Formats: sequence, structure tokens, C-alpha cells
Amino acid sequence: MAKKKSVKKRPAPKALSRSTKSSKYVYFFGNGKADGDRTMRELLGGKGANLAEMTNAALPVPAGFTISTAACTIYYKEKRRIPPSIDAEMLTNLRKLEKASGTQFGSNTNPLLVSVRSGSKFSMPGMMDTILNLGLNDETVEALKRRTSNGRFAYDSYRRFMQMFGSVVLEIPKDAFEHEFDTVKRGRGATLDTELDEEALREVVARYKTVVRERAKRDFPQEPREQLTMARDAVFRSWMNPRAQEYRRIYDIPDHIGTAVNVQMMVFGNTGDRSATGVGFTRNPATGAKEFYGEFLINAQGEDVVAGIRTPQPITELEKVLPKAYKQLRDITSRLERNYKDVQDFEFTIQDERLFMLQTRNGKRTGYAAVIIATDFVAERLITPKEAILQIDPESLSQLLAPGFDQKEWKSIPVATRGLPASPGAASGQVVFSAEEAVQWSDAGKPVILVRRETVPDDIRGMFVAQGVLTATGGMTSHAAVVGRQMGKPSIVGASALDVDEDGRRFTVNGHTIKEGDFVSFDGLTGEVKLAKVASKPSEILQVLNRELEPAKSDIYRRFMQILKWSDKHRRMDVRANADQPDQAELAYAFGARGIGLCRTEHMFFGEGRIPIVQRMILADNEKDRRAALAELLPMQRDDFYGVFKAMKGEPVTIRTIDPPLHEFLPKREELMVEIARLEARAHGTDELETKLALLRRVEQLHEFNPMLGHRGVRLGITYPEITEMQTRAILEAACRLAKEGLKVTPEIMIPLVGHVKELRDQKVVVNRVAEQVMKEQGVTVKYLVGTMIEVPRGAMTADEIATEAQFFSFGTNDLTQMTFGFSRDDVGKFLRVYQDKKILDRDPFATFDVDGVGPVLRTGVELGRRTNPDLKIGVCGEHGGDPSSIHFFEKVGLNYVSCSPYRVPVARLAAAQAALAVKVGD
Ligand code: ADP
Ligand code: MG
Ligand code: MG
Repeated sequence: MAKKKSVKKRPAPKALSRSTKSSKYVYFFGNGKADGDRTMRELLGGKGANLAEMTNAALPVPAGFTISTAACTIYYKEKRRIPPSIDAEMLTNLRKLEKASGTQFGSNTNPLLVSVRSGSKFSMPGMMDTILNLGLNDETVEALKRRTSNGRFAYDSYRRFMQMFGSVVLEIPKDAFEHEFDTVKRGRGATLDTELDEEALREVVARYKTVVRERAKRDFPQEPREQLTMARDAVFRSWMNPRAQEYRRIYDIPDHIGTAVNVQMMVFGNTGDRSATGVGFTRNPATGAKEFYGEFLINAQGEDVVAGIRTPQPITELEKVLPKAYKQLRDITSRLERNYKDVQDFEFTIQDERLFMLQTRNGKRTGYAAVIIATDFVAERLITPKEAILQIDPESLSQLLAPGFDQKEWKSIPVATRGLPASPGAASGQVVFSAEEAVQWSDAGKPVILVRRETVPDDIRGMFVAQGVLTATGGMTSHAAVVGRQMGKPSIVGASALDVDEDGRRFTVNGHTIKEGDFVSFDGLTGEVKLAKVASKPSEILQVLNRELEPAKSDIYRRFMQILKWSDKHRRMDVRANADQPDQAELAYAFGARGIGLCRTEHMFFGEGRIPIVQRMILADNEKDRRAALAELLPMQRDDFYGVFKAMKGEPVTIRTIDPPLHEFLPKREELMVEIARLEARAHGTDELETKLALLRRVEQLHEFNPMLGHRGVRLGITYPEITEMQTRAILEAACRLAKEGLKVTPEIMIPLVGHVKELRDQKVVVNRVAEQVMKEQGVTVKYLVGTMIEVPRGAMTADEIATEAQFFSFGTNDLTQMTFGFSRDDVGKFLRVYQDKKILDRDPFATFDVDGVGPVLRTGVELGRRTNPDLKIGVCGEHGGDPSSIHFFEKVGLNYVSCSPYRVPVARLAAAQAALAVKVGD
């Protein structure tokens, strides 16, 4: 749920918000009392705020302090330096921590060891780095050994620290350390880390020192305070590392919010076999099932569980080995779930049978699980329906509509292997072995499956574009699993039978070799992998809507619809769909669209057998011929409209008159020239050749330098009023027919691309004249509206004049964005990426509405329009109509409805409800 156009944006208490910030930058937690609490996520990061909350709830949390995100902002403002005043505040808190823990930094008898952990407002799993066991040096390691009588443990901790510090702070490649570690392991014939004894680990430490000296040109820092300062700054620095930036871009997390740094006393899961470390969820994050869920490792520390170094055990096993700690963990985590009223994703460590909580946060989950959990919580009376709709990321609902495999075909193919079902969904595609290739191949239009030994956070872009992700190692909480679930990306991890050769671009599994480009398919819900291409089929919800499955037989369908029904109670805006055909309109209605916001008539021109007639209309160089072609189109359009009206059961249907430049309906100039050359080579003077030559002449006549700014939209209707006449006639004849059948029908005729009131006036005269005529002919009256699209900036700026002629406005935000930015929608791909890399733009303005720049244009259009026509109905019909954060803005400016593609309707219903609950119109 990190895609936080945040729904749960609880406003930070005034005293804590940045604008009125005090000079406090460091917040202590320990001994049952904390300076912060859970509401302070913006300042303390999610991790820091929840550590404070757990401390206040008297849970066993190692003491520590949080350096706030405000310090991070200062760090960047001061050219990557922390001012001395914050340094001093940190030292004060360090002394407090020493007192609370009864230990001392650098002490030769009882040394304080800490972890240094990042944590921003939105969790970014694995994107930034954590350092454990800080405070160890050649002397304190001996003190640790003496205190614990465990030299193996002391040196294991030291080598881990050097490795993390070396790579994160000194920026030495991890491989350099791993190489030395493996050498020692091999030398001792060890396969597992745990098999190395103290002696061996001392050798590792010695070798690491050499690595540091050679690579960093300095000795490993021995002074704990220096270690701490360096580590803190490295965490701040890691906020801007490329993978963190990439992550933020995908999840729309702004760069400026920064990260906090948590410094926390260490507890140890690696002291022996009465110790452990683990992670878990209070409910199954993949399926939503109410079950305790997670993994742990005995005698291990920190990242071991998620890094896939050893295969962890399922958390239920913990009950057998450490029953007391297990029971306490279950108690605490259920309490946390009730307190946060949400599924908790927690991290813990057990040191010599004593449990410590190290983190809790609201768990990320699949869209499927989100719906199950929210409806279960309501049934359990843990939350209200209103809270339930605020809990679900609207975007994630679209996962429930994603296709699955045809079970018959799927079952007919042998299972090649099984892995852990990390994230549900059916995936089929061609195998690639690197994130870069995944991006290249998918840019070329190929469906890809990203296969990796294990995924690392750098793979995130490749995962994003792939149909699915398949890894050979890792557990249910490994990086690939966590990120996959969050993206709703079908994922299987830990398919250990795969022998992946990334360099050779192949993998083998049970005797089969699969090369780059070969097809594989897998089911992320069952974990089955198959070596074939398999067609997918509609999701369960779609099957119900298509009447292939009874609603009573689909639990998920009923829950899904329940969520949407609850949403409808809270939303103010209507939700319509963009649909051009009766079947699309029917689906949209089934998804809950009440009305069509955009029916693009020209899409109908591409229908079976119509293009030649359309071409004849375009080729006509006189009105008579054009009218003849239009007369042929009339019955076809009328039938289309009849079907769409009927499917909408009387709800308003907005039909746009012809919009695109005419040449879009003609063959390409180059293709014609080739055909003509071929015909000329064969014979002379044939009819076909004549037609093609005429076509070519017309194509050349119609050529435009900037077709998107050329002869299109209302300009076509003005120059060829007979087109508007025909379309109006088709709309009204269809409407009259329905009216005569006793059915309700509400047509809205929409003139596109209007920038001047007189354009609309011109077309309205035509529309009204024809409409009157048709109604007289038919002997019935139908109520219809005439309105316009506002998509040319001039239209918005003169909306007060236009509104005197228009009965409704519909913002075409695609064109409005195009014309306000001056970015061609069709060419923006060439430079958008660079714009994003250079931080000129955070987001693609064609995907997420640009509130700052296009927003004021839209707002002006709304305000001016309502000034002269208070009853003006206003909606939006661009792609943005289905985008949750854009919907938020449309709620603010007080639009009457949003309209989006049929599949986005459920997303829009939920997003509109969240927006209505979060903002007041006019905010
Ligand atoms: P991430 O945000 O990547 O999960 P964390 O800061 O949570 O990183 O640290 C990762 C792991 O390191 C934790 O789950 C925990 O196992 C271990 N860890 C962090 N701090 C401590 C600590 N004070 N004592 C023991 N283990 C710790
Ligand atoms: Mg963590
Ligand atoms: Mg347009």
C-alpha cells in the first residue's frame, strides 16, 4: 500500500508539522516512555513513530532515539552536512541511551552496541540500508566476548558490522567482503555461516580489515562516535541512491520528504540456539486468510531471514522450539493489530529466549488480500465500513480483475517445478534474466517473465514491466515477494529446483534447459511453474459479470461488490465510463458506471465494412457526394447509439461528435505509393489504379504539419456541417426509437475542442435544428443536452462565455494536458524519461493529472463556467478520470463526475469515496 496518494493521511498535529517545527531534531524512546508516537510518521518516519508507539505501550522494544526527517532536509540543504547543533543533540540522546541501557559507547567492560536504521514516512522495503552492531572495534569485541563468554558470537557480530559498514558507509562493493568470507568458509570446509568458529571468524575480521585498507585507503574506523556519525550520514545519503529514487518514482513518493535515522540498542538473535530472528504478518498478506504468518531463523541476525542466505522456517515451528517467546509474540502482535486496526507486518528478535519487538507497520498486501481483510475486519467489528474503504488502496482493486489461466489448458501441462506462491496472478511470457532486458523487451511489446536467482532492490524497474517474477531463492518475505505483492505482480520465489545461469542466460529445471526468449508460465497463487505459453482467462469477478459463474458461488465477488457499495455511500462524485460499444457499456454498467462520459463516435467508423464508406465521405470533394456517403453511415451509427443507450438503462450518455483529423481514416501516403507502383507495373488504366491515385491526391491534400493542432474537432463540424447533421440525426433517431419503446434515454451531445464561444454556437444551431426535425418526424420528444469538451486552454479561460451556450462541460484532460504543456501526447515518450531523471517532472502528467500547472486551467474553467451558468454539469473524461490521485483533485474542485475506462470504474468508485472523505470541495 505504499502507493500513497495517501488515503490515511491523518493530518499531523499542528505542533509537529514542519511549518511550525521546534528546534528539536532528536526523539528518544526507552524505558516505557517515548518523545514521539504513531501520529508522527512525517517527522519520525514510519519505523521511528511505531517504535515510539510500541515503547509507550510498554512492549519490549530496545531503547534508542530517532533523528528526524527535518534533519535530513537540513542535511541536503547544507550540502550534505549535519550542523553541529544537531550533532550535539544526538550526543545528548546518546548519553541518555547509555544511561537507559547501563552500557557505554566504547566501554572495555560493557560496551553499547547500536543499530542505525533508516525509515521514511512511507516504507520502502530494502531500498535503504541498515547497519547492525555499531560500536564494535578491536577492544569492544573482546569485552563482548568476556561478557557473554561467547567468542564465536562476538566475532560473528564484528564481521557482520564490518561488512555492513564497509559496503554502506565506505561504499566498498559487497562482493569484496563476500569473496573473503567464502574463501575462509571453503578453507574450513564449511557450507553454512553458522559452522564457522571463533577462530575462523577472527580470520574473516582480519581479512576484512585488509579489504577496507585497500579499497577505502584508510583503516576501519575504531572510534564508535566516528562510526555513528558516518553511519548516520550514510543513511541520509542513501535516501538519494538510484534504487530508492526509482522506488519513489514508481510509488509516487515525493523526494523532498526525506528519511529519519533510528539509532537503537542492539539485541542479539545470534547468541546461540536459544536465540532467533524473524518477521511475520498477523494475517496472510497474499490471500488475506486469518492466519499467523511468517518466518524465522535460529541463531541469526537481521537481514539473514529476508536475504535468503539460509532457508527460514515457518513461524508456526517457533511454538515448538521457543514456546514462551512464541506465545508472547502472538499476544503482542494481536494487540498491535487491534491497536492499529490493520494487519501488522512485524520484525522481532529473540535473545536467549527473551523477545524483543524491532518493528511494526501496516502490512502491504495484494489487492485480493486487501478486500478479504477489510471485509473480515468489518465482520469482526474491528473497523467500520467507512474505515474499511479507507484501508484499501484503490489501485489494488484492479488486480482482482486481472486474468487467470484457463484451468483446463493449465492442468493439461505438466508442472515443471513449484516455488513459494508469493503474489497471486497468472503470468505467461518470454524469459529474460536481467531487469534491463525486461525493460527493453517489454518496450518492444513482448511479454516477459523476469527470472533471477534472487531479486535485489535494483531490479525494481524490471519487475514493474514484467508479466511476472520468478526467483530460485528467498522466502515469502524476500524482496521479490514483498515488492511483487505490493505491485500486484504475479510472483513465485524460492523455486529452488531452478538452476539459474544469469550470465549464460539460461536456466535448467529437472533436466530441461530454458533459454532467454523461451516461454514459461506460472500461477502465483499455487506456485506452479510450467514450461509453455498458456493463454489466460478472465478473473473470477469478470466471470460473474459475464454470467459464467453465479454470484453465490464467488466469495471474492461478493466481498468486492460489498466494498464498492460501501464506497458509493460516501462518494459525492458520480462515476461514468468511457465506452463506444454496447458490450463495453454493459460491462461498465456492471462495474457500477452510471452513465457514459465519453462515447467516441469515430471508433465506430473503424467497425466492420465501414472504413470504405468513411473514406468515400472524406474523399468527396463536394457536399453532394459527402452527403451520399453520410447517408450510408447514418443507419450504422444509429444502431450503435441505440445499443449503447440501451445498455446504459436510461443513465446519461455523452456522445462526442467527430474529433480526430480525417487523415487518420485514410491509408498512409507511403503505403499508397507502393501499391500504386505495383498496380502501374501490372496494367494501365484499371479502375483500381484510378481509385488509388485519387486517394493519394486526397491524402496529400489532407496532409497537415501538426494534425493534433489542425483540422479536427469542432473545426470539422464547422467546415462540414453535414457531418454534425448526420451524427445528430443518428443520436436523436436512436433516442426516439427507445422513447417509443417506453425506455428512458438521456443523450448528451458533446462538441469537442471548443476554444471560442462562437464555435459552439455555430454547432448548436445545427444540432438543435436537426434534433427538432427528427423529433417532429418521429412524433416524440426526447430531452437532450448540448455541451462541450473543455480541452483547449482558451476554452477554459473563456468558460464564462462558453457556459452561456453549453449545458455541460467535460474536461478532456488528455488534450488539455497536451496543449497546456505543449507536449505532444504521442511524442512525449522520447523525452519524458530524461525529464524525470533530471527531476524536471516527478510524474508523467498524462498518467497523473498535473495539479500545479494544468490544475489552475481546469479550476478556472470550472469557476468561470459556474459563474454564468450555476447549474452547469461538469465532468472529466480523460485518462485521469480513473487515476486515484487525480480523482482527489477533481473532488477538490467540485466536479460532478469522473469518467474512465470500464475496468477502472471500481477503482474510481473507491477513490472517489476516499477523496470525498478526505477533502472538502473548495479546499
Ligand atoms: P529494513 O527497513 O530494511 O527492514 P531495518 O532497519 O528494519 O531495515 O533492519 C533490518 C533488520 O535488522 C531488522 O528486522 C532486525 O532484524 C535487525 N535489527 C535492526 N535493529 C536491530 C537491533 N537494535 N537489534 C537487533 N536487530 C536489529
Ligand atoms: Mg525492517
Ligand atoms: Mg480531445
